[in-house]
Amino acid sequence: MGAGKRGTKLLLGCALLFVAYFGTAHLGLFLGAVAGFATLVWPPTGIALAALYLYGFSLWPAVFAGALLVNLVHGAPLVVASAIACGNALEAVVGAWLLRRMRFQPLLDRVLDVVVLIFAAAVGSTALSAFIGVGSLRLGGIVQPADVGQTLRAWWIGDALGDLVVAPLLFVFWARPPVRRLPATVTEALFLACALVGFALLVFGNLFPGWITLYRHPYLLFPLLAWAALRFGQYGAAISVFLVSTIATAGTAMGFGPFVQPILADSLLGLQAFMSVAAATALVLGAAIAERNRAVDARDEFLYIASHELRTPLTALSLHVQNLLHRLQRSEVVPSREQTLESMETANRLLFRMAKLIGELLEVSRVATGTFQLQREEIDLASSVRESLARFEGQLATAGCRVELQSEGKLTGRWDPLRLDQVIDNLISNAVKYGAGKPVEVQLSENGERVVLEVRDHGIGINPADQRRVFERFERAVSRRRFGGFGLGLWITRKVIEAHGGTIQLVSAPGLGSTFRVELPR
Ligand code: ADP
Repeated sequence: MGAGKRGTKLLLGCALLFVAYFGTAHLGLFLGAVAGFATLVWPPTGIALAALYLYGFSLWPAVFAGALLVNLVHGAPLVVASAIACGNALEAVVGAWLLRRMRFQPLLDRVLDVVVLIFAAAVGSTALSAFIGVGSLRLGGIVQPADVGQTLRAWWIGDALGDLVVAPLLFVFWARPPVRRLPATVTEALFLACALVGFALLVFGNLFPGWITLYRHPYLLFPLLAWAALRFGQYGAAISVFLVSTIATAGTAMGFGPFVQPILADSLLGLQAFMSVAAATALVLGAAIAERNRAVDARDEFLYIASHELRTPLTALSLHVQNLLHRLQRSEVVPSREQTLESMETANRLLFRMAKLIGELLEVSRVATGTFQLQREEIDLASSVRESLARFEGQLATAGCRVELQSEGKLTGRWDPLRLDQVIDNLISNAVKYGAGKPVEVQLSENGERVVLEVRDHGIGINPADQRRVFERFERAVSRRRFGGFGLGLWITRKVIEAHGGTIQLVSAPGLGSTFRVELPR
């Protein structure tokens, strides 16, 4: 993209964010702001967080300008409004930076991502804006010392809610996690939406006002939020939290519902505390369901692959042996020594592959429960690598991979020889499998008290989004049609390395190849 086009895009992005920020902030400040500026309803925090995380930090001027203008419009002196705007811009930048740092993924399909969103963004980064904002209101003489506590609380909760209610919705719609197709999806979704709106209006609105005995307690909404998360994952959780939050805020502001108090700010405080818990619960549940669904999918895929993977070499081996037997039995055409040798080599390769697959399967439970014992002895890593390369000689030649081995320094240590072989074999076999036709480089070196093994290939590489999960059990980043395998090798490798107190890192780019770097303490 040219610099001009990039500049126009940035300007357009800033303009859109500015309008969204100013519009929602203006709305928020109308609703029961403590000390005129600390509102408990502050959606722009979530909008700014999502925008900066998804489209880059360079959008921060829009946040600054939006916050500056809205505070000026609501009567803040220029210096105070500028300080508040700095706090808001900083909140967005730090929030988005923390999310990136912690490798947050907007799909929100892992509990870890939700936890990061809650603590790093909603609780952590919002503190900056709250402290700077309230600090400048205090210095500007707008907030009296006695009111600092409650103003700070309102500001913080309002901003946190923006990150918990608005940001997830934007993240989920941006990342678009796949929806599981179930027969009743559309009807059920409509039914659920009606139930949510109905109950939210019942609890927080003035629905059926004459029916005094109606039970209007906010926890009536929890089963519905759970239903949304259980059946519709993060779409369900994010949309229903947003829906309930909107109805609840409007209802409370109009003076209805269980949180109503004489002062609107007090009503909203109770409501937003409730909404924070509800939003966090629904999002964690949605993520846990997504994780469970993935585990079930992975298991099904694994069963499919396992049967397929084991049958293929078995069928090939049995055909091969039958063929050889047949030729040997027909005494008039005895196969030559070369033919027999070739047959036996193929059979040996198939056996080797089956043994590796069965070996991986047998390892699963032992590695998962962490019950494997390390039998450490003094080993030279260089000779283990050489032996492994010799084992793979046939496969390397068939795949057209030339190997370059470089080693320097003292490469000995106390490790478990069989487990170490497993690590080396897995890395080399993956380099051959995913980097066929290209050279494979193996480098051994020292890094202080650690010994380093690097295996580099120039094959298909791994997408950045998949680079973490390929080290998990049954996780694969290639289609099963193109490449066989259980998705266990790297997981076992990582577990073995961790049991030795070492680390494994991956540097990879799609189409350019992968480098696995193992560091082992001696
Ligand atoms: P398997 O190779 O049996 O699928 P692994 O656990 O060894 O299982 O690897 C997990 C996934 O990581 C693979 O399915 C593949 O997508 C990816 N992968 C591993 N090594 C490489 C590599 N050297 N190059 C590209 N992708 C790789």
